[in-house]
Amino acid sequence: MKKTSKSQKPIIGIDLGTTNSSAAYIKDGQAEIIPSPGGERIIPSVVHVDRAGKVVVGQDAADALIAMPGRTIAAVKRKMGSEEHLEVAGKKLLPEEVSALILKELKEYADNLLGPGEKEAVISVPAHFADAQRKATKKAGELAGFTVERVINEPTAAAMAFGLSNLDQDQHILVYDLGGGTFDVSLVEMMEGVLEVKASAGDNNLGGEDFDWKLVELFVGNMEDKYGVNPMEDLRAKTLLKGEAERVKKELSVKETCSVNLPAVIVKDDQPLDLELEVSRNEFVELIKDSLEKTLGCVEQVLEDASLDPEEIDEVLLVGGSTRIPWVREALAENFSFGNKPRQDINPEEAVALGVAVQAGLKSGELAESGFIVTDVAPYSLGIAVLKGFQGIMMVPGGFHTIIPKNTTIPVTRSDRFSTAADGQTVVEIEVYQGEKEGTRDNYPLGEFLLSGIPPRPAGQEEVEVTFHYNINGILEVQARCVSNNKAMGVSLKDALDRKSEGSYKESLERLETIFDAAEEPSEEDMDDFLAGFQEMEEESQEGIKARLKKEALLAIADGKELLSRLPQKARKELAELLESLEGALEGPDEDLQEALNEVLDLLIEIDEGDENE
Ligand code: ADP
Ligand code: MG
Repeated sequence: MKKTSKSQKPIIGIDLGTTNSSAAYIKDGQAEIIPSPGGERIIPSVVHVDRAGKVVVGQDAADALIAMPGRTIAAVKRKMGSEEHLEVAGKKLLPEEVSALILKELKEYADNLLGPGEKEAVISVPAHFADAQRKATKKAGELAGFTVERVINEPTAAAMAFGLSNLDQDQHILVYDLGGGTFDVSLVEMMEGVLEVKASAGDNNLGGEDFDWKLVELFVGNMEDKYGVNPMEDLRAKTLLKGEAERVKKELSVKETCSVNLPAVIVKDDQPLDLELEVSRNEFVELIKDSLEKTLGCVEQVLEDASLDPEEIDEVLLVGGSTRIPWVREALAENFSFGNKPRQDINPEEAVALGVAVQAGLKSGELAESGFIVTDVAPYSLGIAVLKGFQGIMMVPGGFHTIIPKNTTIPVTRSDRFSTAADGQTVVEIEVYQGEKEGTRDNYPLGEFLLSGIPPRPAGQEEVEVTFHYNINGILEVQARCVSNNKAMGVSLKDALDRKSEGSYKESLERLETIFDAAEEPSEEDMDDFLAGFQEMEEESQEGIKARLKKEALLAIADGKELLSRLPQKARKELAELLESLEGALEGPDEDLQEALNEVLDLLIEIDEGDENE
């Protein structure tokens, strides 16, 4: 174990992925992954709240997904920036709060390795993340206890990891990043130690998750045809099928065909129904062809935006687990004659975290001597809806007026002036959008505010200056100013958003605290005894699995007993009987115990869901 020698806070780099997350730092001038105490270099971005109320993150949480979907959340990154509350174990959490739990886990690994204490973090986001998603990511980091001064685009990070070890080469690098939830492609130029992003394109809703769901659709169709039931109506079956889909998908990356044989997906008329079929690689590719071809369109786009021919690309970096699908390499080779340019020596799951650590190292000064400089671009155009006039009392919205064009190097500040559209107009509504379409309707709204107090004069005689400042984190600040009286009235977008998020930050912290408090709730003595007893047992006996099984059983018994008095008579009787057999099975063989436990868990889940549906 080694502490950083610098006196300042260590800065770590974090790849907070849809599917997997990891952290890295700079050690002796090189980026290195921060492993978990168990040695894992990346962990699933899955959060589970166990029966005792304890938050579990990573592989153990992923393992719990099928047995306890109601207590487990995966792929939360897809919801970042939305205000949708996610339910886990009866608690409602915002996406950034769930993400904070993942980041907190990574912080523990960092504390372990580098010593406890305050830490700064740089966190990566897909280049195509919008303002709200970036802010939510930053907030997640701070909720986890980091100081987050920087978020950085994922493909840029991946290029940085590569760039740092190839500082002496001048080249064009294409980063193709296809992960679990998002797709990004960036074209990067390395020239005399300066890494400059030239263009980027992508899709926030295209990734391995979508491919899994396509396979699930195939499975569901098969079961509907065979049995006339839709397994998707059952949460557990749905989770089971999703897990199987991912397994099949991965197997098809190495094999031409894969047999699926999943017993008892669902029970109909007391009959367990199995899923049985063969899927070929071609069949799978056919299912996801549209998405895959979209990624090629984006590659074309960045080449065009950067005015480069495919032959001028020197390096192709494949990043993200989904680039292990053989089609990706093949299609890039075929369509852009990249041949075997895609590097084989890059770990697609680690490249981003390592690159974020490089950014962290540049920031902390640890890499100052490398002379490495990095510039990034705005991944989309930013502008406003121009108010063209009034029709009765209805405003007639104009088209989209770009203030910062896509692929402008950041940070950047740009202003534009607009004149009043109606006689005596004293108020202007500033609506901010991002996107490449001509009409605001097809672009993405970022926010709006009013500038009031314009002196009433004939149309066109008053001017309003709108200033956009897009910072290195890809976060936008907007200001509007009436030119004649020089007053920036109304609120700037930044203030409006910050004020809103400040209130919600406190609420979020409180909610997270209740989660951690809840973990201590079942501190009734018996629960403590159970836990202590079985911890001992786990240590003493060489049979960790058996101990864990028993612990699970005891927790289920405690859970179930607590629930009994609140159940209607029929359910109470059923549960009481199952609990009794579970108790009876405690000292018996593992298989019997597992079976009895499954029965209790099934019923508990059923009751849980019944509650939810009320
Ligand atoms: P993220 O950045 O979204 O967290 P990763 O880069 O870790 O994602 O990639 C995760 C995605 O890659 C998942 O959808 C996973 O199923 C997929 N994946 C991982 N390995 C393979 C493989 N061998 N073949 C196909 N897809 C894979
Ligand atoms: Mg990723």
